[in-house]
Amino acid sequence: MTDTVDPLLPLSFLEAVRNVDTPVEDFEAELVSDLRNKRLGLSDTIYNQIKRFSDAVKRGQRTSFEEATGIARLLGRRPDAEAVFRAAGRHLAGESYRTINGVTRRVMLLLPSLLARPIALGSTRRLARRYLNARISRVGAMVYLEVPRSVTIDAASRSTGCTYYEAGLKELLRLMVNSGGAVEHVRCAARGEGACQWRAEWKPSSSME
Ligand SMILES: [Zn+2]
Repeated sequence: MTDTVDPLLPLSFLEAVRNVDTPVEDFEAELVSDLRNKRLGLSDTIYNQIKRFSDAVKRGQRTSFEEATGIARLLGRRPDAEAVFRAAGRHLAGESYRTINGVTRRVMLLLPSLLARPIALGSTRRLARRYLNARISRVGAMVYLEVPRSVTIDAASRSTGCTYYEAGLKELLRLMVNSGGAVEHVRCAARGEGACQWRAEWKPSSSME
């Protein structure tokens, strides 16, 4: 399982590059034809790769771990690597959340939290396992995400690549339990601490509980 990743993972890297490199203002849009070949995110290579991984998603075909780390290294060389990794993490969280069926999503929103939370925890666990090759565990009011083999750990200097998982967990918790709390990187493979691990509060930000 750890030799492969879900195709949504490399797809999130590519979608983030495309989004970050897409001009936001008219002035930029006028310049973009000149920039098209200079901006990786708008190149035909990225477009073709996005199409290829999207097809793999439709076919339910997993991607090799090495291919995903190769794309992560391309992102890691950019001066804005951290912003792109964070955008990618949020993208993956959003896309994986959308794979939960609509009834379950509504149930999680409508049920009292006492009943909704175990369902949300189970779903978060399944999504983390499938899309991030990661383990979720809850200890009291805290939830932990552990990544035994990180795709992004060697992609950039120090722990820059780790921001991918950090942003992914933060967004997933926001979607699942409306949590707006901080995510803390408590252990890091880049610091020689074995696996990478993050900790966050498992509760809604505006909770009355
Ligand atoms: Zn780390």
